[in-house]
Amino acid sequence: PPCAIICIGMAGSGKTTFMQRINAHLHQAHQQHPATTAPPYVLNLDPAVRSVPFESNIDIRDSVNYKEVMKQYNLGPNGGILTSLNLFATKIDQVMGLLEKRCLPPTPSPPTAPQAQTPTPPPTQAPLLPSHILIDTPGQIEVFVWSASGEILLSSLASSFPTVIAYIIDTPRTTQNTSTFMSNMLYAISILYKTRLPMILVFNKTDVKDPAEAVEWMRDFETFQAAVRREEDEEREGGGYMGSLLNSMSLVLEEFYNGLGVVSVSSMTGDGVDAFFAKVEEKRDEFERDYRPEMRKRK
Ligand code: GDP
Ligand code: MG
Repeated sequence: PPCAIICIGMAGSGKTTFMQRINAHLHQAHQQHPATTAPPYVLNLDPAVRSVPFESNIDIRDSVNYKEVMKQYNLGPNGGILTSLNLFATKIDQVMGLLEKRCLPPTPSPPTAPQAQTPTPPPTQAPLLPSHILIDTPGQIEVFVWSASGEILLSSLASSFPTVIAYIIDTPRTTQNTSTFMSNMLYAISILYKTRLPMILVFNKTDVKDPAEAVEWMRDFETFQAAVRREEDEEREGGGYMGSLLNSMSLVLEEFYNGLGVVSVSSMTGDGVDAFFAKVEEKRDEFERDYRPEMRKRK
């Protein structure tokens, strides 16, 4: 079955732009090899987005009207998104039914009693299954990750399809200094442990800033600690608790970094998209090997 890729990340990190890019990439692959690759199946789960720059097969906005929900329940923007997601989650059976129909191979119909005279019709060519399932999530990350409905959507998906999280990082913002970087990594960890799904860190916007330094920080904690020292010297804040906290965390995080896939992309130029899909294949294998058995146990 196709692998589901869920794009998660801070507001403005580029989830939607990244979706648009990988969607275009897969459509192009389909055009080049129409006999062997099908286009992806695409879901938009952001109820508040004004226009979606890609064509989606399932759009939360078709079943809930975010503006109306805000008015009707007298909610602000975040409450509106959350309530819309909850309303959508009540229809998860229909959504999964549709996904399974479109994205899983048809189950062979039970053999009917043989009728001697009627010749069996020649087997029809089964249509190609979508190459991937792509899912965009609301701009506000916590609404999706920390809500009951987000959890329902994720676990339903992962029980039918190999599922991988693409954690999108705004490289120029996140690599500004060591503490912003560390905050973002801690957020990624919390999502990894909450969802227990394989994760790819996608350093996005590489056309604006090269993530090489940040990637080096992950590979070698000494370079991270050197950067912390440099910042302390510049700020002259006298090596407070912040520096030592950052240093200790960099040691602890080594184990976490080892389990992650890391890629650098520009959703703007398309740079790095092939490397991303190569990682998706790795993580899909990991899902089948390590996560699937774990999920069976939990069930
Ligand atoms: P979302 O809230 O995570 O869905 O973020 P969007 O996809 O809406 O993108 C937020 C902003 O970042 C938009 O202005 C995008 O044009 C910009 N953006 C996204 N990806 C890239 C990229 O790879 N390079 C550059 N330069 N800008 C990007
Ligand atoms: Mg978006």
